[in-house]
Amino acid sequence: MIKLKGIAAASGISIAPAYKVGKDDFLVPKEVIRQEDIPQQIRQFEEALIKTRREIIELQKRIGHEMGQEEAQIFDAHLLVLEDRMLIEEVISRLKKEQLNVAFIFQEVLKKYVEVFSKIEDEYLKERISDINDVGKRILRNLLGKTRSGLSDLKERVIVIAHDLSPSDTAAMHKQRVCGFVTDIGGKTSHTAIMAKSLEIPAVVGLEEATYKIRAGDMLIVDGSSGLVIVNPDEETLNAYRQEELKLKGVTERFLLAKDMPAVTLDGKTIEISGNIEFPDEVPAVKLHGGEGIGLYRTEFFYMNRKGLPTEEEHYQAYRYVAEAMKPQPVIIRTLDLGGDKFLSQFEIPHEMKSFLGWRAIRFCLARPDIFKLQLRAILRASVHGKLKMMYPMISGVEELRQANAILEEAKKELESEGKPFDKDIEVGAMIEVPSAAMTADILAKEADFFSIGTNDLIQYSLAADRTNEKVAYLYEPSHPAVLRLIQNTIQAAHAANIRVGMCGEMAGEPALAVLLLGLGLDEFSMPPQMIPEIKYIIRSVKIKDAQEMALNALKLSTAKEVEEYTQARLQDILK
Ligand code: PEP
Ligand code: MG
Repeated sequence: MIKLKGIAAASGISIAPAYKVGKDDFLVPKEVIRQEDIPQQIRQFEEALIKTRREIIELQKRIGHEMGQEEAQIFDAHLLVLEDRMLIEEVISRLKKEQLNVAFIFQEVLKKYVEVFSKIEDEYLKERISDINDVGKRILRNLLGKTRSGLSDLKERVIVIAHDLSPSDTAAMHKQRVCGFVTDIGGKTSHTAIMAKSLEIPAVVGLEEATYKIRAGDMLIVDGSSGLVIVNPDEETLNAYRQEELKLKGVTERFLLAKDMPAVTLDGKTIEISGNIEFPDEVPAVKLHGGEGIGLYRTEFFYMNRKGLPTEEEHYQAYRYVAEAMKPQPVIIRTLDLGGDKFLSQFEIPHEMKSFLGWRAIRFCLARPDIFKLQLRAILRASVHGKLKMMYPMISGVEELRQANAILEEAKKELESEGKPFDKDIEVGAMIEVPSAAMTADILAKEADFFSIGTNDLIQYSLAADRTNEKVAYLYEPSHPAVLRLIQNTIQAAHAANIRVGMCGEMAGEPALAVLLLGLGLDEFSMPPQMIPEIKYIIRSVKIKDAQEMALNALKLSTAKEVEEYTQARLQDILK
């Protein structure tokens, strides 16, 4: 039995065998294979070689057509690597001798080749290193891709172990028998974690070496609340966790009773509780959990798993569906927030969009009004089918809000002249997720209809700790006094200008912080749907004046840890 500690990403307990999936960033799993599996592994290797050959020939044809024969000839060298008998034979003989999975052996042989070639003082041979690497990656991807596609025909419940899971990988698992997942990288609010929560799958991320330490088929306990993964637990531990799993179900029952009641405090203040979605088909989950609206519809996921950009009509149909399905409850559509860890899976995106501080989200939209306006037109057109609102991500100051609104005005004028109806009073909000926006909330509040605090980004920017990096996850603390002060400033500025303020970052669904946020004056909480019942239960169990007192006390504390201990202790009192 070994215990691995990672970052708690999605709560709950799962007990099931490990199922490993590979990734082309090449943390190739090392697995011992049985003697009788050797022929199958050789076959898998041969198939990967054939597939890679086919891919290269196709690529060569395309390049020849688009760029000329000379460029296409580069791939001749790649094809030669594929036919290198020495390389192939070495893989097969080591496979037989060492009895390890073929992907791992192949990677080892590849490494050795690259090392040997880099020592040779011959320019021609040196140049072949990049060919070998390139083809090697393709072969590995095809070898591992085989494992990955296996996810669609799982026969039993499993816990997925991966170096990393992109949002599209996670989305593809939607209907699989995946009851937990564990990754080497990622932080609490990385998109892997957010997707896990919305799928209600317990997850632990940022374990660093899970893919090395866990072998396929190992029995696992994933405790998504404490960030613990127990590998091959003994009988006693297994029983204790089974009990815990049952107990959790009991607690959940208490929360479930609250789910269809309004979130009213004991002294009568009503709070709006809504759900976050990434895809229209998550609407039923929000309703099922008692959500009173959609506080964040992340539209960039719309761009995933497809080849071209969505058309205005496709945007419109999706927004119309969500608006109608939730009617008369409100839906807040967040305009395109591409970049950072939210990428387009099918498109190559410019390097400058990949950085969290880079050319992304509203910055990208303002620079590409063609893409932006198309989305705005679709939102406006859909607004007649329900109660739609919209908000811009990553606003850093009032100029960006004005520029975005100017494009919105153009979209409205266009629709007017085309005779297409839209809600003329549609509310337009600003996300407060950049510290400069939180600091100038009083200025922004004069020109926004509402605020929605995006703590996932606000925390990473204010504490300078990348939200997806497990190495700095210890710094990424929602209860840090700096974060609390930025939130307090935002709420006070909003209320002084008479606008409402919500929160749609993961922090809004943190049970221990709910009372604190209530005390700070938050009007609306939006969260992963499965958190709604618990947060409703908590809000229904407190008085607003006690929450305010608690917030005041918390704001006097010096460290995130002190705030966390204080709020946790109060939560235990409430849940008693
Ligand atoms: C946030 O930053 O808190 C937020 C809700 O947006 P996202 O997680 O999509 O960046
Ligand atoms: Mg954000």
